[in-house]
Amino acid sequence: MAIRSGGSAQPMLLPAHEARRLLASKNISSVELTRLALERIEKLEPKIHAFLTVTPELALEQAEEADKRLNGNGPHPCALTGIPVMVKDNMSTAGVATTAGSRILEGYVPPYDATVVELLRSAGAIIVGKGNLDEFAMGSSNENSAFAPVRNPWDTSRVPGGSSGGAAAAVAAGECFIALGSDTGGSIRQPAALCGVVGMKPTYGLVSRYGLIAFASSLDQIGPLGRDVLDCAHTLNVIARRDPRDSTSVQGPEDDYTKGIDAGVRGMRLAVPREYLAEGIEPGVRSAFEKAVGKLESLGSRIEEISLPLTGHALAVYYIIAPSEASANLARYDGFKYGLSTADAANSWEVMDQTRGRGFGPEVKRRILLGAYALSAGYYDAYYKKAQQVRTLIRREFQQAFERCDALITPTSPTVAFKLGSRTDDPMSMYLSDVCTIPANIAGLPGVSVPAGFSGHLPVGLQILGPPFGDAAILRTAYAYEQATEWRLMHPKSDLIQ
Ligand code: GLN
Repeated sequence: MAIRSGGSAQPMLLPAHEARRLLASKNISSVELTRLALERIEKLEPKIHAFLTVTPELALEQAEEADKRLNGNGPHPCALTGIPVMVKDNMSTAGVATTAGSRILEGYVPPYDATVVELLRSAGAIIVGKGNLDEFAMGSSNENSAFAPVRNPWDTSRVPGGSSGGAAAAVAAGECFIALGSDTGGSIRQPAALCGVVGMKPTYGLVSRYGLIAFASSLDQIGPLGRDVLDCAHTLNVIARRDPRDSTSVQGPEDDYTKGIDAGVRGMRLAVPREYLAEGIEPGVRSAFEKAVGKLESLGSRIEEISLPLTGHALAVYYIIAPSEASANLARYDGFKYGLSTADAANSWEVMDQTRGRGFGPEVKRRILLGAYALSAGYYDAYYKKAQQVRTLIRREFQQAFERCDALITPTSPTVAFKLGSRTDDPMSMYLSDVCTIPANIAGLPGVSVPAGFSGHLPVGLQILGPPFGDAAILRTAYAYEQATEWRLMHPKSDLIQ
């Protein structure tokens, strides 16, 4: 089940900042580290399927450049220089296939890099490949990937969560140190929780969405997954940037998210919203969560229970707004502009019809139908407009809560990783995986999931939510908890991980 990494001989199981120290002290070069990552990917991928594309030549080229930079030739190295990372396959990479987990984008090679990819490259990070995901990031288990389901490194009969399941599984299995995921309703935090790693969704707007294949534009946000909180803070430093190419992006209040990260939680006011512990929470998750609350209290924070009565509406609001935006965003896949196009059609309508019919999977079709329905004349006011109104109320409810507390703490997911296939026939039970994470997207808040122990042999995540632009404060809280526990030292142990 779990092994501790203290003094591990396997550098791929270290946090990135420790691997970075090995690079700085010349104990290892970036080319060597990248080779280790590629070897591990080759060995583990037949069981995990975390990658849709691996880019060994490009990675080794980048690693050579990084080594030069680490040796003082070239721009000043930063925390990610020379570190192997993965990018979820819904972020555009120039010259490297980008599928969003969908058949409809098969064969599509973007001519440009997403802003985050550009930023990673100029930081000197080594992109070893593209992460598997639920098709167009729609899902909570990775079983909606058109190519292969990802398996959870803690137990390969179980899902890694989704939709950034490839990202979380690759970090947990030591195939890379850090991964970029996207989070529309929980897709960074929930898989991070289910795979026992740290995952952070920044405040909406803090990270540019330029080059991210859009699912629901008012909810989508890119963020880091890593083996510990510091790695996520370092990554946020690289990617949080206002970008004129994304009009919703803003300049955040911090220029260094690691500054003051170790200041502790003494005197901080943390609130537990009782609605997040309602029915559906597994006993093992509840008890790990209660212990985590106790730990944060023993570190000097003040804990109070509060009520956020609108929480129960967030899921319904999400499943109107997200599919509505998706139905508009996915209209561009018409069989002409990108990827797949059927050749045996009589006219352009048939091309569109057949390409979309064959190219989209069942969940994506379900969302397009839901969205088109909610936006259609006669239903718009009843569904879409009403959902937007409730969204405003949810935002206000959070605003009021943050007048009384500095951060909210909740479980990240009501359950631990579930068995593959156990929820695929029941979309509603799948959608319920995100009850604890979705409200933050509705309100644009930052949230982080940090490992908080186990239920049986499976990891449990603690979620910390902050007010808009409270990203530094939630990282500080997560760091204080993480450093006071030893969960970050646990790694999945099985024949395939050793
Ligand atoms: N699981 C949620 C959904 O299916 C959220 C996905 C996400 O955050 N991308 O829509």
